[in-house]
Amino acid sequence: MLRLAENMSRLGTETAFEVLARAAALAAEGRDIVNLGIGQPDFKTPPHVVEAACQALRDGHHGYTPANGILPLREAVAEDILARRGVEVHPDSVLIVPGGKVTMFFAILMFGEAGAEIMYPNPGFPIYESVIRYSGAKPVPIVLREENGFAFSADEVLEQVTPATRLIILNSPANPTGGVVPREEIDKLVAGLERYPQAAIMSDEIYARIIYDGREHVSLLNYESIRDRVILLDGWSKTYAMTGWRLGFSVWPGALARDAERLAVNCHSCVNAATQYAGIAALQGPQDAVDEMVRAFDQRRRVIVDALNALPGFRCQEPGGAFYAFPNITGTGMTARELQRRMLEEAGVATVAGTSFGDRGEGFIRFSYAASTEDIRKAADRIGNML
Ligand code: PLP
Repeated sequence: MLRLAENMSRLGTETAFEVLARAAALAAEGRDIVNLGIGQPDFKTPPHVVEAACQALRDGHHGYTPANGILPLREAVAEDILARRGVEVHPDSVLIVPGGKVTMFFAILMFGEAGAEIMYPNPGFPIYESVIRYSGAKPVPIVLREENGFAFSADEVLEQVTPATRLIILNSPANPTGGVVPREEIDKLVAGLERYPQAAIMSDEIYARIIYDGREHVSLLNYESIRDRVILLDGWSKTYAMTGWRLGFSVWPGALARDAERLAVNCHSCVNAATQYAGIAALQGPQDAVDEMVRAFDQRRRVIVDALNALPGFRCQEPGGAFYAFPNITGTGMTARELQRRMLEEAGVATVAGTSFGDRGEGFIRFSYAASTEDIRKAADRIGNML
């Protein structure tokens, strides 16, 4: 009889992958499925980025790289952070990782253990809570409310900080809500956090470039008073339509960069070499593909919000960023999971129940609008008929 470690029983998962598998199984049976479940751009990686990876392989970049990533890529990341966030970071504080997820895994493992508390957004990216529980730390939810545009309340975050708080996870623009936290709220939070020097902050800014209506992206790195304890999570997956390449970066304060690198050496050694060259091309090459993609998401955003608001029992806010709409569906009289199941099985529309993102997601469904407007309209028509 095999005996797994106890903490394995506390590890959760990301239900979006299960929805994807069920949608694929239905499609294999010949059903026409519209997939609004998946959280990835439906665009191709820009060709010059693909070419840079091919060229790197032709040039013989087949071996291990330094565990923290090749220097030209870390320098390119530092230049990008200076250009877009206005903050100077040293390339040695940058860690190149296989996807955004790895930064959250490392940060949570670094601070999480029995007796520690880690705060995380709820509803939020499901892996935060999953890994916090795995680590043995106590997960403390930062509740995101519809009436606040799904932004956190700085006062509520600060009220929950205790001497045991080791790490506070923030995410804006957010998955699954599309919420963008306004600058005033972040200012207020940072001012309050100055009283709690024991708490590190991991800012998940993976959707920083996917933001609408001229809203500004406020990076936590911009705050001098807490910079010595901010971990930045970002990457190429969403911005450059590179989810399958597995490429992300983090910025770690002070000595934590070496601890994070040690985790990398123990885990994956390094990100595959050719992908790292692709990452340089993405950051330093033309950005028009990113701009076009964001313009397309913006158009689809308007289409989906109108279409969802026209459905009986649905109420949908305009998301400020990312590519998710998160309507309140309590008016349908169904739970999120029931509605998710019926939309997939009866209407052939894949979505993800809000409860996949934490218990505070009950009453909501996540629709990804990284899909054509034709598919979005078709999905809304089918759901309308079903309801
Ligand atoms: N952070 C958030 C908020 C996300 O939504 C995702 C992916 O969906 C990630 C991190 C992980 O990104 P990656 O695919 O680069 O690991």
